[in-house]
Amino acid sequence: MESTGNIVVLGGGESGTGAALLAKKKGYRVFVSDKGRIDDKYKDVLKNNNIEWEEEKHSRAKIFNSDEIIKSPGIPENVDIVKESIASGIPVISEIEFAGRFSKAKMICISGSNGKTTTAIMTFDILKKAGLDVCLAGNVGDSFAWKLAERDYDYFVLEISSFQLDTMFKFKADIAVLLNITPDHLDRYDKDFVKYSNSKFRIFQNQEVGDHIIYNADDQVIVEKIKKIKTKALCYPFSQKVTLDKGAYTTDDKKIVFKIKNKEFFMNLTELPLQGKHNIYNSMASGITARLLDIRKVIIKESLSEFKNVEHRLESVSLVRGIEFFNDSKATNVNSTWFALESMTKPVIWIVGGMDKGNDYSDLQYLVKQKVKAIVCLGVNNERIIKAFNDYNIPVTETQSARDAVKAAYNMGAPGDAVLLSPACASFDLFDNYEDRGNQFKQAVYDL
Ligand code: ADP
Repeated sequence: MESTGNIVVLGGGESGTGAALLAKKKGYRVFVSDKGRIDDKYKDVLKNNNIEWEEEKHSRAKIFNSDEIIKSPGIPENVDIVKESIASGIPVISEIEFAGRFSKAKMICISGSNGKTTTAIMTFDILKKAGLDVCLAGNVGDSFAWKLAERDYDYFVLEISSFQLDTMFKFKADIAVLLNITPDHLDRYDKDFVKYSNSKFRIFQNQEVGDHIIYNADDQVIVEKIKKIKTKALCYPFSQKVTLDKGAYTTDDKKIVFKIKNKEFFMNLTELPLQGKHNIYNSMASGITARLLDIRKVIIKESLSEFKNVEHRLESVSLVRGIEFFNDSKATNVNSTWFALESMTKPVIWIVGGMDKGNDYSDLQYLVKQKVKAIVCLGVNNERIIKAFNDYNIPVTETQSARDAVKAAYNMGAPGDAVLLSPACASFDLFDNYEDRGNQFKQAVYDL
C-alpha cells in the first residue's frame, strides 16, 4: 500500500519514531511533533531517514493540515492538541492501529493490568523455540511499527497497553489474551474504573470466526464483562480456582492441565521456575496460545520450564547474611504487590512507596498482617501508607533513597528473612523510572 497523504506523529519516542519510519517507508509525508525534548537516539533516526520533526512545541498549522494523526500512548487524550484535532475531524489513531494496516502476520495481542511483559516474552520464547517466524514488539522492546518498517513476520506477539487500545479502532487480534483488570492508571480515565476496563476490552473488538480469546476466569471483572460482549471468537479461560472444560486450570496435586482442541496435557507446577501464583497465570496464558498454534507439548514444557525471570519483576537479587533481597520495582500498583507478598515464604521486610496513583491499600492488609515484620517507606510522601498499616504494630521507617532503604531493611533483618522492594507505586517522585529505582536498589544491595 503506497500513499501520498500527510501524517503527523505526536510524540517522538519509541512508538512515535517507529510510526514515523513506517509511514515514511509507505510513502506518506511525515511530520513528528513533540511538546517535550526528543531523545538524541530518536533524533538521529529521524534525521537519517529525512523525516521532519520539531521538539518543545506543537506547530498547530502543520498538525491541523494532516490527514491522520498517530498519537503516542504517553500523550493523554485530553490534552488540547488532541482534543482540537479530533474536534476538527482529523482521525487520531495509535501506532498499533496504523501499523496493523501493513502487516499480514497473525497478531497475538497481550493485555491486562499486570503481567503483560512477562507473558509476552514467555509466549514469544515458545513460538521462537518452535521455529516460527515471530517478532516480539509493542510495549516490550521495540515498537511494532518500527519492527514492521524493517520487515513483516508470520507472527507478532504484541504487548498492548490500555493507552494504545484507546486509539485502536479497526485493528484485529487473531489471538487476544486478557490477563487481569485491576485498578491502575486511573488518573488517565477520570478516576473511573469502568472506563479503564472498557478500554482493556477493546482488545477483543473486531474479532471474527476463527479468532481466539484467552482470559483469566478468576478475575471477576473480566468474567462479568465477557458475558456481555458478543464475540465470534472462541474463548479459552484459565483458572487456579475452578476446573474448566477447555483452557487451562490447576489441580490439587499441583499440576496445570491444558485442554485445547479436545486434547489434554499436564505440567507439574514444580517444573515452573518462577515464583508466585501470578506466574502460573502467565504460564497458562502462554501455554494455551502455543497449543492453539499447534505447537508441540514438549516444546511448550521445555520453554516454560527454562523461562528466566524478567529484570525488576520479583527478581531474586542476592543473599546477604542469610537475608534474601527481591527486586520487584515494576510492581507499580497494588495488585502486582499483592502477588509479590503472596508468594513470599519468609518473614518480609517490605520496601514500599513512591508516587501513589490513588491506591487502596486495604487489599494488602491481610497479607501484610500475615507476612510483614517491618515496613520501609521509600517515597517523598508516605502518609497514606503509614495510615493504612498504622494499627498493626509493625515498625515503620521512612527513607528517601534506595541506599537508605536497603540499609534500613538490612539493619532490621535477620538470617532467614526476605527484603522485598515491591512499591505498589510509580517511581517518579525519587527516580527516573522503575528501572532506575530497581537498578539503584540492586546496587545498594551489592554494596552492603
Ligand atoms: P506489565 O507489562 O503488565 O506491567 P510485567 O510482566 O512487567 O507486567 O509485571 C509487572 C508487575 O506485575 C511485576 O511486579 C510482576 O511481578 C507482577 N506480575 C506479573 N504477572 C502478573 C499477573 N499475572 N498478575 C499480577 N501481577 C503480575
